[in-house]
Parts: sequence; structure tokens; C-alpha cells
Amino acid sequence: SEVRENLTYEAFGTAVRELAQTIADDGFEPDIILSVARGGVFVAGGLAYALDCKNLHLVNVEFYTGVGTTLPMPVMLAPVPNVVDFSKKRVLIADDVADTGKTLKLIHDFCEGHVADVRSAVIYEKPQSLVKCEYVWKHTDEWINFPWSVLPPVVEREGQVRDA
Ligand code: 5GP
Repeated sequence: SEVRENLTYEAFGTAVRELAQTIADDGFEPDIILSVARGGVFVAGGLAYALDCKNLHLVNVEFYTGVGTTLPMPVMLAPVPNVVDFSKKRVLIADDVADTGKTLKLIHDFCEGHVADVRSAVIYEKPQSLVKCEYVWKHTDEWINFPWSVLPPVVEREGQVRDA
């Protein structure tokens, strides 16, 4: 589809506070926020401040290779977090979007059985997601432009003078 859901950094600020409020209103107080790199790191950082949680972990997952093009399955990249660190803890998985939901399912299954409670929070959830996240800011079926990935990586400009 041609239509895009366009999230600005400003709207993201509002979204992450509203998402945190939903979690607080539900009475969920995570001991650990597990962010899914890279997009989930922004969400996790915002939620960590808003929920006053200082215990942040990160997992790297490779799945998308382009707009709508994926590997057959998401894969967790090294270093994989030690689930022993999560035992008896209430874990909140934070990501930018549940699209197919395969990434969140992978991480949810990784935590399940090792933790006291595991829930997921996302800015966006799409209707086809096989994981229904406990906390969702907005439902959409469009491709989303996130402010952190809408522009290509920066490249060094010509003629820059570097210090010795
Ligand atoms: P899933 O495993 O749920 O299909 O996808 C999870 C990851 O794929 C997200 O964390 C995100 O990095 C990427 N992704 C999925 N859908 C979108 C989208 O609509 N826009 C962008 N920019 N990334 C997406």
C-alpha cells in the first residue's frame, strides 16, 4: 500500500508517555524492561523513565531486510541475555511494532517459564500479529515510518577537515 503511518519524534514522546500511563493504570510494575534492538530501544528508554524502572536489558533480533521483506524467521543475535537474570522478575518486553508478531513471540517464548510475569508493550500493533500485546498505543495496518529509521544512515561529507 502507498499509505504510510508517519510517526514524528514529537508524537513518539506523547505515545511513550501514554503507553506508560496505560501500563501504570493496569497496575503492572515491571522489574525489568527488555528492549528489542534497535527500534525497541527508544520505546524501552522512554518507558523506563516514565515507569521509574532502572533495570534495562537488550536483545538484538534480525528479521527485516527491507520494507516488507524478511528473513524466514527472526533470529536472536549474540550476546543473548541470560534468563537467570530474569528469574522471579516481572518482565516488560518493549518494541516499536508488532507486525507479524514473530519477533515478540520469539522473545516472549524465550522468557516464558523463567520469569514471574512477562508482558509486551508496543507503540503499534498490526491486525495480523500472532502475539496480542498487553499494551498497545495504536493499531494500524499501514507500513510505519519511524523517526529513527525514516532517513538513511549519515555518510561523511566531502571536504571535511578533521583535527590531527
Ligand atoms: P515482526 O516480527 O512483528 O513482524 O516485526 C518486528 C520488527 O520489524 C519491528 O521491531 C520493526 O523493526 C520491523 N517492522 C515491522 N513492521 C514495520 C513497519 O511497519 N515499519 C517499520 N519501520 N519497521 C517495521
